[in-house]
Amino acid sequence: MIPRLYIDAPLSSGAVLTLSSAQAHYLRHVLRLGAGAAVRLFNGQNGEWSASIARQDKKTATVDVVAQCRGQTDDPAITLMFAPLKRGPIDYLVEKATELGATCLQPVLTLRTVAQRVNQERMLANATEAAEQCERLSIPDVRAPLALDALLDRWPDDKTILFCDERRGPPMLASLLQSPDLPAAVLIGPEGGFDSRERDWLIDQPSIKAVSLGPRILRAETAAVAALTLWQARAEIGPA
Ligand code: SAH
Repeated sequence: MIPRLYIDAPLSSGAVLTLSSAQAHYLRHVLRLGAGAAVRLFNGQNGEWSASIARQDKKTATVDVVAQCRGQTDDPAITLMFAPLKRGPIDYLVEKATELGATCLQPVLTLRTVAQRVNQERMLANATEAAEQCERLSIPDVRAPLALDALLDRWPDDKTILFCDERRGPPMLASLLQSPDLPAAVLIGPEGGFDSRERDWLIDQPSIKAVSLGPRILRAETAAVAALTLWQARAEIGPA
């Protein structure tokens, strides 16, 4: 397995790039790779490139970029809006959402949100690692938290947000995915669910479509995985 690394720099053949100290450490001390070893690089813009370790010292490493091995492709855009969770569940959610193709991760503060702050840096590190591992060509855009009303204020009315509502009967999220337009976002509430005032307000918003994921109450991170999986299936197959 050739390691894949995300790098925030333009990729072109002949470029010599410096890796982050964490990446240098990973290659040298975790994978025990030395000068000349092959790596693959992506930056979210120029596809994937073969490269090799050029120089290493205790804290840094440089790589020689060789040739492009995959062209950049555009992932269909899907924003996951979610109320911040405790550390374990949020790590899980970020990793799985990245694997399932979320292009934007938007924490949203709701009345019953327990964790009011999020560690954006940790989210980005987890998303980057998951993108490296799952062979994505981009990393999700990790946003700063916004209050629910501020988020919807900025959101275009014509882009559908699938509001996952555990107290709702039909429609099922899966059935909505048969329509010709691909929804642009999925909204998942906090562990305590949305407050009833919030739900009433949400349902009235032009971009919102309330949907069910079935009769069981799922944990927020499970609901995110289920919703993104269904959305991905629709993105891959097209409308039924
Ligand atoms: N404590 C709440 C449950 C919250 S579950 C209660 O008992 O009412 C956390 C979030 O996951 C919810 O806000 C919702 O967005 C999503 N969710 C969980 N189960 C769901 C289901 N069956 N259908 C749609 N959304 C669901």
